[in-house]
Order: sequence, then structure tokens, then C-alpha cells
Amino acid sequence: MNFLSQLLPNRTQFSERRQSRRVRGVEIKTETEIATMRQAGQIVATVLKEVAEYVQPGQSTADLDTYAEARIRAMGATPSFKGYHGFPASICACLNDEVVHGIPRRRQIIRAGDLLKVDTGAYYNGFHGDSCITIAVGKVSDAAQQLMTAAEKALYAGIDQVKAGNTLLDIAGAIEDCVHGDGYSIVENYTGHGVGRNLHEPPSVFNFRTQQLPNMKLLAGMTLAIEPILNAGSKHTRTLSDRWTVVTVDRSLSAQFEHTVLVTETGYEILSDRSQL
Ligand code: MG
Ligand code: MG
Repeated sequence: MNFLSQLLPNRTQFSERRQSRRVRGVEIKTETEIATMRQAGQIVATVLKEVAEYVQPGQSTADLDTYAEARIRAMGATPSFKGYHGFPASICACLNDEVVHGIPRRRQIIRAGDLLKVDTGAYYNGFHGDSCITIAVGKVSDAAQQLMTAAEKALYAGIDQVKAGNTLLDIAGAIEDCVHGDGYSIVENYTGHGVGRNLHEPPSVFNFRTQQLPNMKLLAGMTLAIEPILNAGSKHTRTLSDRWTVVTVDRSLSAQFEHTVLVTETGYEILSDRSQL
């Protein structure tokens, strides 16, 4: 499927340009590069869909990591996260009050009623895909279900602002209004990012209105990882002694969804979309 061709009235603008270029440090991908990123995104989408189907109470988060790594490699990609700044695994696995960057562990057993976040990346032919889902393991509490629903809604509120000519602040404002309207807090210490040749590249894609981070206009061909993190209680977090796993300070639940998204002239394409799988 080539969704891009349906969305771009003037396709030659893309196809005539063979070399990617940068605008304020942000790489504008060529059509060929976007095609590769679409493949990387679909590998990540497939892995997350499969992990969600595979997970069972009684498994460890390390079991999920082993499974995800095998699936990434079986599809001809390598895990983006493994070895990234020394991160030891192919997925970040976070349970309940764990917020982000959870290291999968043999002794961390998944139980029915857990809210499980799985974030992963795949590096394929020189480009990364990056996506995160929250999974309800068995029957979760109403509070957990509502937080999870709100987190996915916030991601799509942000994605809905993706369009050439809109700005990073349009994305941030839509996410902030959505999350606060639902009565949750937004973790401010971690943002989305550009993604492509590097897992993390400019710009920072923030999830709340701020003057602290550079705003910029979106251009067709930018590829962004949008990834709001919602907490049921305080927005504040702390990092555990493993120096990676981040938890809420008040032990409240946290949920997150993330997609790799391409900016087009008329809107967006979700490169890590799972809906056609
Ligand atoms: Mg991610
Ligand atoms: Mg990311």
C-alpha cells in the first residue's frame, strides 16, 4: 500500500529529490527513505501486535524481551534499543507505576491485572521505527482501563495536528488539552523526537505547551515519534538504582502509546500503524 501517493497531489516534488536535506537540524526524508522507514515501522508494528498476543500472566518481562528480539531479527532488522547508551534489552517493559525505560528482568513476573507498557524499535536498512503500546494483562481495574484509553486518545489528539504548516506547539497543545481534560497529568521530563537514521534526532516533540523547547513548523517529509506519557497522579518521576527504570514518585499508574508518524502536505501517515496487520 502506498498511502503517501494518495495524499500527495504533487508527487514529483518528492521523487525529484534524491538527497535528504535538513531544516534547522531536522532531516526531511526522501521518498525512498520514507519507503524504508515504512518498512521499519511495520516491523515494529508487527512485533508489538505479536507481543500483545503472546503475553501471559506468569511470564517475566525478560521472556517478552527474548520473544521480541527474536521476532525483530526474524524480520531482518536489528533491535534499535539494544546497546543504545548501554541499554541492555530490545524492549523497554514497564509495569503499573513504572513510567519509561524499564529494563526487562527475569524476576519481574507479569500478573493478571497489570498495566504493561512495551516500547520497542527496529533498525532496518539504515532507518529506525519506534512505537509503544500499553497492554491490559487480563482484567485490569476500571482506573487502569480509563488511563490506558486516555493515553491512546492523547496520542491521536497529537497525531491529528500533524500536517505541513502546523507546528510542534500545535501537537503539544492538543495533547495537553486532551490529557488535562481527562484529569491526568503529563510527564514532562521525557518527550517525543525526530526519528530516522538515528533513533533519537531533532526535533524534540513535547507533550505540553512550553517555551523551553524550540517550536518549529512541520514540513512534509519529517518523521516524528509522538509519545505522550500520562500518570494517574503526580507528574513527577524518579529513576531507580538500575539507572534506567523510571517510576512515578507517588506510585500512581502510568500509561503510554507512541507512533512513528510521517508529516505530509495534507496531514500524516502513521508508519508504525497496526490497524492493517
Ligand atoms: Mg519508543
Ligand atoms: Mg520514542
